[in-house]
Amino acid sequence: MRTAAGLSEYIDLTSAEIARIESAAKLQPLKITPYYLSLLDRNNPADPLRRMVLPDVRELHVAPGESADPIGDTGQYQPVPCVTHRHPERVLIYPVMQCAGYCRYCFRRRRVDADAEIWSSGVERKALKYIREHREIREVILTGGEPLLLDDAQLSALLKKLRRIPHIRLLRIHTRMPAFNPFRITRRLAVELKSFQPLWVVVHFNHPREITPVAGYYLDRLRRNAPMLNQSVLLKGVNDNADTLRELFWRLAERGIKPYYLHHPDQAEGTRHLRPSLRDGLSLWEELSGTLPGYLIPRYVLDVPGGFGKTALSMDCVEDTGSGGFHVRPPRSKRRVTYQE
Ligand SMILES: *Cc1c(COP(=O)(O)O)cnc(C)c1O
Ligand code: SF4
Repeated sequence: MRTAAGLSEYIDLTSAEIARIESAAKLQPLKITPYYLSLLDRNNPADPLRRMVLPDVRELHVAPGESADPIGDTGQYQPVPCVTHRHPERVLIYPVMQCAGYCRYCFRRRRVDADAEIWSSGVERKALKYIREHREIREVILTGGEPLLLDDAQLSALLKKLRRIPHIRLLRIHTRMPAFNPFRITRRLAVELKSFQPLWVVVHFNHPREITPVAGYYLDRLRRNAPMLNQSVLLKGVNDNADTLRELFWRLAERGIKPYYLHHPDQAEGTRHLRPSLRDGLSLWEELSGTLPGYLIPRYVLDVPGGFGKTALSMDCVEDTGSGGFHVRPPRSKRRVTYQE
């Protein structure tokens, strides 16, 4: 589903709401799969699943501190197109910059669906050459965009080329496909992924209602063929309460998927209304940590703006500056950095 008018056949929208959705979809397009559309609550404008995928006029407001590349994936950490190399041992590649659906909080929202980073055979050759020449790299992470928008043949051709590089020990795929279109996990795909072990699959679920029985069936198939982790984004009005997150983590655990990261949302343009305060996030995380089994507690992380990388958050390591900011200490950084909300 790519138009607000079409959407109104499935959920109740006034003509004013349709117009607002259309104007909000200018920065990042509206795109929802038929399956995910079926999960939305048609009568409830505050439905957490609707908040994740329906454009909102508040997206047109860019708050101070927000940017097109909030975590510094491009610039100095992008040695060749479609590659980000910040941590010596692991590298990100972007074989597809489209997604099955678009999340309104996306930290790469200005980069997805743009024409700037298109994976072509020339781009691939340069990316593989870079990885081959950097022998400190041990893990290649396919991200995007949505790597599972590649068809089976394209995906296995790429994985085969990566597997032939002797110093690459691990492969990883970051995907939101199981939430947007679980039917993509065909038997053939699962068997294909198994043949590339060790390969980890990191999925992206934010709300327990996204783990439907149907999604569960396909997640089980994937899980039988690859070890799996989940990353979630902490979102205001979606999952910023302990009961929702607890239920999400239990449902993931029942499928054999470990909650890996809970991301504090990045300061991507036009996402202020979806970002909880760091203080609220911290107290929520402390509450969860006190009640969940240890292995179901994800790391609560902030990608500190300026390319400092993911920084684990807890009450002990964050200090209020008293002026709307916090001191945090990113890994391998000698000094503290100020994070301004
Ligand atoms: C998040 C990220 C990774 C992967 O980090 P893990 O902690 O290994 O999951 C790698 N490179 C960059 C630039 C990242 O932002
Ligand atoms: S699937 Fe990932 S990359 Fe795509 S819009 Fe959602 S958060 Fe962004």
